[in-house]
Amino acid sequence: MNPVVVRAISALRQAVHDVRRRGLTVGFVPTMGALHEGHASLIRAARKETGFVVVSIFVNPTQFGPHEDLARYPQPFEKDLALCAVESADLVFAPQVETLYPQGFRTAVEVGGLQDVLEGSSRPGHFRGVATVVLKLFHLVSPDHAYFGQKDAQQVRIIQQMTRDLNLPVEVRVCPIVREADGLALSSRNVFLDTAQRKNATVLYRSLVEAQAMIKQGERSSTVLQRMLTERITATPGVILDSAAIVDADSLQPIDPLREQVLIA
Ligand code: AMP
Repeated sequence: MNPVVVRAISALRQAVHDVRRRGLTVGFVPTMGALHEGHASLIRAARKETGFVVVSIFVNPTQFGPHEDLARYPQPFEKDLALCAVESADLVFAPQVETLYPQGFRTAVEVGGLQDVLEGSSRPGHFRGVATVVLKLFHLVSPDHAYFGQKDAQQVRIIQQMTRDLNLPVEVRVCPIVREADGLALSSRNVFLDTAQRKNATVLYRSLVEAQAMIKQGERSSTVLQRMLTERITATPGVILDSAAIVDADSLQPIDPLREQVLIA
């Protein structure tokens, strides 16, 4: 069955209110659209655990920097709806930009310490935009569970921290990374890659797997691992490395030697 498509906040609130009165739990999958199997896996997880599944499709302008790809971010809306229908989502919330950010909007959420490192250091303001829109969406959808991909590990960490710090009554569920057969993580932005770039992009997965293998064999020096990652990635034609970092999975701070859970980003 096709999901109900809702663009207005009042209609969304009414729909969620109605299903709650019917005693259903609400699962929420926030997305920017251009949906693929990675998003589908989140919708399936929500479908399995909750009675009413809401998917939001919103290309959030506040998480894009001035020189990023906001204007050309893919928006195949009809195709997205078809995927939501196949995965049996119940409702698609697809607001206009002015609906979420009316004239005079001023408030932002900052998750100190976590938002400015790793990807945040090359994309200033990105995670402020993410946290702010996710908080707004949580308030609007009021889900029991919200589903995020481990692919965006820093985002997950920030949303978990925000949820805890602000006592949000939402359980954050983290779902595994869905990859192509050759290891490249599915991403809406992969359509921007030409054939050669697409092939070279697998260096990310290959170098992550190699780092993981080195750790399993006992390597504990972050410096050694980082050197390997940097050399491998920068030696690949057409690849420009922002950063290769090994951090504590909780604080996202560099850690050397490795201990407890680490994140290689
Ligand atoms: P996006 O539309 O890129 O903002 O992503 C929406 C959600 O889907 C985020 O929680 C992402 O982490 C998740 N996601 C995107 N790609 C994948 C993937 N390949 N595997 C798992 N989750 C993903």
